Order: sequence, then structure tokens, then C-alpha cells
Amino acid sequence: MCFGTRYCGSNLTLEAALDHFIYRDGALWAEDVPVAEIAAQVGTPFYLYSTATLTRHFKLFDEALDWGPHLVCYAMKAASNQAILRTLAAEGAGMDVVSGGEYARAKAAGVPGDRIVFSGVGKTRDEIRAALEGGIRQFNVESEPEMQVISEIASSMGTQAPIAIRVNPDVDAKTHAKIATGKSENKFGIPIARAREVYAMAAKLPGLKVVGIDVHIGSQLTDLEPFELAYTKVAELTEALRADGHEISRLDLGGGLGIPYARSNEAPPLPTDYGKLIQKTVGHLGCEIEIEPGRLIAGNAGILVSKVIYLKHGEGRDFLILDGAMNDLIRPAMYEAHHDIVPVVEPEVGIEPKPYDIVGPVCETGDTFAKERLMPPLTAGDLVAFRSAGAYGAVMASEYNTRPLIPEVLVHGDQFAVIRERPSFADMINRDSIPAWL
Ligand SMILES: *Cc1c(COP(=O)(O)O)cnc(C)c1O
Repeated sequence: MCFGTRYCGSNLTLEAALDHFIYRDGALWAEDVPVAEIAAQVGTPFYLYSTATLTRHFKLFDEALDWGPHLVCYAMKAASNQAILRTLAAEGAGMDVVSGGEYARAKAAGVPGDRIVFSGVGKTRDEIRAALEGGIRQFNVESEPEMQVISEIASSMGTQAPIAIRVNPDVDAKTHAKIATGKSENKFGIPIARAREVYAMAAKLPGLKVVGIDVHIGSQLTDLEPFELAYTKVAELTEALRADGHEISRLDLGGGLGIPYARSNEAPPLPTDYGKLIQKTVGHLGCEIEIEPGRLIAGNAGILVSKVIYLKHGEGRDFLILDGAMNDLIRPAMYEAHHDIVPVVEPEVGIEPKPYDIVGPVCETGDTFAKERLMPPLTAGDLVAFRSAGAYGAVMASEYNTRPLIPEVLVHGDQFAVIRERPSFADMINRDSIPAWL
């Protein structure tokens, strides 16, 4: 069992740790703040992010591409709070956006248009126009009809839209089916076999400026091999397109590098090795490299802190009923995802762990975070932390069961701030409006 550093039998230094949530003096800290202190002030459940972890992960990617011109565009769909975006933008991050709302968020956080890449299979006319008006580094085009619409709108505005075409390399990302995007049966991109034809079409359309190629094969990849297959195909395509007379100066290689959700037995590749692989596969082409990591930047930079409401003895099993639920963190219900769950009070050495089913209060059996999870003995009132909850956590939350969206808190050294308030019941109810006939 590995509850924390003490249980792992190693004296993990902060530098070697994956994040800045570690046990100190018998309790879990976020950087230089005890988690329990934040819980006492903010109330549970809540998301808690570490500035030092966010910036460290960004820098790992940035440095991994130091061998050439590059821009790390944070895939902000992973965690898009304004404070998180500002933290990363201040380090020099660009943004990868997938909706008009995300584009507006990136701009509101002060990210200049020429650092924003617009991805996504269904960009609307309004979204395309807004991005052209506000400035955009490039659209990652996902289909021919979309390319025609971008051409039309840019022409009518008397401007040129920079585009990369997203190719689908037909590579198996070997990840969860719901987040694999690079197989030919997936809805994303243009089949790589048809790419030359589509680039030829792009060259003829008014209002477009072809700048490069885009690829993104999926999320939570725990092996470099699918990336290698995809990037090798992109390198071949680059040469073919250049031979056809296109100027390919930029390669957007997407995101997708996985993180260890179960720390005791997972060790996905590091950004450094990923950077070396990129250099090996496409480095010789002299292109500017863009990557779009989301999960690896935000995932281990956030935890979800929750409290045990009840310890319930069931038939042959004990349930820990938490105040956090599937509406707050949907990954276990949606992707069968594992999250390490640790007590906020560090367990005593040698304590005998017990199996618990860890559940939320929502009226669905799907509201189960873990089954027969070995934990130190816990009871009502105890705090627990879900690790690796910073990405695809808060952004996927809902108010199902009229449970308020939980607050987000950001730690920075010995300071912390609520970066999104918990709405009151009145806030939630007042969003509804009553028609005249009622
Ligand atoms: C989701 C997504 C990403 C980010 O994926 P991660 O696994 O979070 O790194 C990057 N690019 C595109 C186009 C995406 O859809």
C-alpha cells in the first residue's frame, strides 16, 4: 500500500515528486499550506490547484522542445479557470481552444490572438468570425466543409485565415476508447491518404493561408509508440506536400501524453523523452513545433478535497459516503478512471488498511469512485484527497442533483485564493426564469 511518501518506503524529495501535494508533519500540504486549513475556510468539497506544479509541468514541455522553435499551447479544456490560464500564460504558454467560449476565456486571461490555436470538429460561423476578429495563430481545420466556411468568412472580411489541416493518421493510440481520436473510424481530421488532395484544394481557396499540418491522436497515452507512428507519417506528409509546392512551416503535434493515475504501478513516458521523440521524427524538417498538452500540465497539479459524511456498514462491505460526487468528478463514472485517494491526515506507520467502497451521495450506482479500495481506517468527518484531479475535473462538473459547482482554489507558496466561488442555492435557482403563464 502506498498512501504517501512514508508508505512508499522512499523519502521522496519535493523535486522528485510529481506534484506539490505531499505529507509534511503528519498531514497533507499543498505547497506551503496545510490542506485542512483550506478546507476549514472554504468548506468541502473543493478543487485545489498548485501553481508550482502547473508551471513546472509547462516548463518541462517547453524545455523538452528547446532544440528548436516551438510553442506549447496548453489545451485549456483540461482546466480553464482564468487564474490557471493567467498562471500559464505568464510562463509563455499559448492556448489550444476548442470552442468560442474557450477562445473568449483565453482572450479574457490576456492571451494574445497570435498564441491561440483553434481546434475542434464543429467550429460555427460565429466562432470562426470571432476568432478572425480577435486574432488567431491558426485554425486546425477538421473537414473540407469547414475549410470552405473559413475561406468564405475570411474572404468576406478581407483577411487571410492561417490554417493547418488536421490529418487522421489511422494510428491506434491504445488508450480508452472514448478518448482515442486517431483511428480512421473516429470523427476527427481528414484521412491522411487524402491529405494532398485537400491541401491542393486549400491552396486554391481565397482567404486561406496554409501554414502547416496538425495531428492529435488521443489522450492519456502511456506509450510513445503511437506518437512515433503518427509523427513519422506527418514527416512523410510534410515532404510530400512541400514537393507539391505547399509551404509547411509549422507542425502542430497535438497533446495526449498520459499521467500516472495509480502511482504505485504506472510510469508513463516523461516530457523529456517525448521531446526527444519529436526531434527524432520531425526535427530535421526545420518546422516550428507546436504541442497541445492538457492533462499532463493540469492533471497532477490539482486534487479534489472531500469529506466523509458517513461510514456505512453494508452487507459484506463498508461504504465511505463522501460529500463529493460524480457530478463533481465524473471521470470514474465516465471512463472507469482510477484516482488515488489519500487521507488528509497521514496514516500512522504500520496501520492495517481496510477495504472500502468509496461513493458519493448522488442517486445513481454510477456514483462510485472506487470499490474495495484499501484505505487506513476512516470515519465521518475525515478529509480525503483525490489525486490527479486537476485535468478534466472541474471543467466536466455539473449541478446534477442541484449540487452546487464546487469551488476552485489556487495555492501559490504559502498563499491561497478561491478562484471560483461556490454558488449559493439562490444563485442556482435564480438562473431559471418563469414563463408568463405560470
Ligand atoms: C483534448 C485535446 C488535447 C489535449 O489532450 P491531453 O490528453 O489533455 O493532453 C489537445 N489537442 C486537441 C485537439 C484535443 O482535442
